[in-house]
Amino acid sequence: MTNKYQRVVLKVSGEALAGETGFGIDPKTMKTIAQELKEVYAMGVQIAVVCGGGNIWRGKTGEEIGMERAQADYMGMLATIMNALGLQDALENQGVPTRVQTSIEMREIAEPYIRRRAIRHLEKNRVVIFAGGTGNPYFSTDTAAALRAAEIEADVILMAKNGVDGVYSADPNIDKEAEKYEELTHTDVITQGLQVMDSTASSLSMDNDIPIVVFNLNEPGNIRRVVAGEHIGTTVKG
Ligand code: UDP
Repeated sequence: MTNKYQRVVLKVSGEALAGETGFGIDPKTMKTIAQELKEVYAMGVQIAVVCGGGNIWRGKTGEEIGMERAQADYMGMLATIMNALGLQDALENQGVPTRVQTSIEMREIAEPYIRRRAIRHLEKNRVVIFAGGTGNPYFSTDTAAALRAAEIEADVILMAKNGVDGVYSADPNIDKEAEKYEELTHTDVITQGLQVMDSTASSLSMDNDIPIVVFNLNEPGNIRRVVAGEHIGTTVKG
């Protein structure tokens, strides 16, 4: 059976790595994600992962306590690199070859981001983990996912959510009438202000016509299902 997508960018938020503790890296959760990714790797799909950092630090938090925003954002970018190294270790423990590429140079611990090199790794079936976000303050790792997806010509961005199985008209935990969308356009997401990505990331995905699938990471086998072509979660395209 052929897979629906051949090259994917998976966005894993920091929150997803924290597990139930809500902070830092939960080794059990990290292992589970690595096992899920191993299944997809075994399907022959080219996988790039963009790690968030919110489980360790968010720029906004720093700003709220009086820090300079750019400084606080650089701390957030460093947090994503810690997560990426953790995920690399977990994946290699599963026997999956990986490379970490950082948008801020850290040659002792990872490769710098080089687009052509990243593509070469993917072609050689190495999972490439993009760390450090875009390398610029005032951006998010969602934007990094959209940017890298455009650069490496990925077929789709997989937005793995923590406990939410798609995009809803309202917060399903608060509003019992909230309706789940099966399919949306990028324009719907932007005009209705739906919670898929932040607005910069959404417009970048729209301008470059990159489909997004929003689904629940906590459901075992979901990454494999999406990649194989099963309709789960919410698809945003067009
Ligand atoms: N960040 C940044 N530029 C980027 C990506 C991330 O400044 O291109 C900083 C920002 O402070 C952000 C933090 O890194 O709050 C962690 O990233 P993000 O909030 O996107 O992580 P997630 O919510 O996915 O865990």
